[in-house]
Amino acid sequence: MKSNFRPLTTLLAGAIVLALGCWALWPSEQAYTALPTSATDESAANSDAADAELSAQPLEVEHLFLGQGGTLAAVSERIGLSADERIQLLSIADEHLDLRRLSPRTGISVQRRPDGTAVSVAIRAEKERFVRVSLPPSPTEAAESESGESIGMQAEIVPLNYRTEIETEGGIVTSSVAQALGHLSQSQFLTQAYADIFQWDVDLLVDPRPGDEVRVVYETRTLGEVPHDLPRFGDAAVRSGEFVGIGRILAARYDGAVADGVAYWVEEEPSAGNYFDDEGKPLRKSFLKSPLNYRRISSRFSKARRNPVTRKVVPHHGVDFAASSGTPVTATADGRIISAGWDGPLGKAVRLRHGGEYVTIYGHLRGFARGIKSGVEVSQGQVIGYVGSTGRATGPHLHYTVVKNGRAIDPLKMKNPTAKRLEERLMPTLNASRLRWDPLLTELELSTRVDVADGKPTAVDPNAVLSGS
Ligand SMILES: [Zn+2]
Repeated sequence: MKSNFRPLTTLLAGAIVLALGCWALWPSEQAYTALPTSATDESAANSDAADAELSAQPLEVEHLFLGQGGTLAAVSERIGLSADERIQLLSIADEHLDLRRLSPRTGISVQRRPDGTAVSVAIRAEKERFVRVSLPPSPTEAAESESGESIGMQAEIVPLNYRTEIETEGGIVTSSVAQALGHLSQSQFLTQAYADIFQWDVDLLVDPRPGDEVRVVYETRTLGEVPHDLPRFGDAAVRSGEFVGIGRILAARYDGAVADGVAYWVEEEPSAGNYFDDEGKPLRKSFLKSPLNYRRISSRFSKARRNPVTRKVVPHHGVDFAASSGTPVTATADGRIISAGWDGPLGKAVRLRHGGEYVTIYGHLRGFARGIKSGVEVSQGQVIGYVGSTGRATGPHLHYTVVKNGRAIDPLKMKNPTAKRLEERLMPTLNASRLRWDPLLTELELSTRVDVADGKPTAVDPNAVLSGS
């Protein structure tokens, strides 16, 4: 070992022990160039010389990426590990990582003593954590602990910690909600999260009008203190304070000419919650079990059934409810009419959209209720038409289809989205949220942003109908 360095290193030992805590806060490039020179503790200088020597030597950190087609085996050779060390490293890393599926974005960092010997190898195969493998102090001789047992490589999983902060954002619509919330990279996630919350009440493609107001209180996540040997992972955050992503939206409001909405996040169970309006009504909407008072179910949802008219075996993507002609048919959930008119084999039919996920279809109607036409909002239980036998039907019945994310599902077996009113015991939580977030929502400054599409602010014309972007 490097006994000629001992006088210097033992003197520095105390200072290093004190300084180690702060190192994590420094950018890694500075960690070994700027040594604090304050306190030197006598007792530390007198402690076990070998220990002191090890901890006293400042470590250098080298950063690499696995790269396209790279393997951990190749990298460990490149960083100068011996054949024995490479085998050990691969075997211990294999316990924590799927080595065959490491992405080229995987970062690797090596800590070395000034003489070049590696102290540890850290591998970051995902954003949130990394694996640090500590190498035995002396790789050529079998290292021994105080108890006399030999120490091999040791692996530990090091999770990264995050700081959550609360931010507000607000804007005035000139062309779209995305424009109102800005076009920064984080705004894209914010716009999506915002749209998800209001999908049942505000159709962000159709409803927005120039002058509408968008407000949101949300969490941002930044990286907390970072270990000085933190490897990179693609372009994921590596520095303390660096932006990681948006967390939950805590409160949001939409004040529009056509649609309004307000939402507060209420945690109903630990880390599980929903959005409710100021009265405790859920933002998510539920579906009625059936759209009418029917006599019987004449045909169920099936992937292969013989069509009674055509005699062909085809899937029946819906349920047929037999009922007398003229029986009122109601919307099973709040929604907006996509179409109301002749619909091929379905005859006279109504199609409703409910949020971004669901569409319901009501077919073979004799006629439509008053005011039922494309674009109109309907509420759950509202009569939209009357049972008939228009289109391809043998007798009066309602054909009812539920489409979820583009695929027909069985309405009789569908899992209703949870949409219960907020429990009474949680009303104080909701009220506390309102007290806390309402002032932020009300006072936040609304900015008028330039739409990147044309590069100039659009004049606010309250009569314009926007198609969204
Ligand atoms: Zn049918």
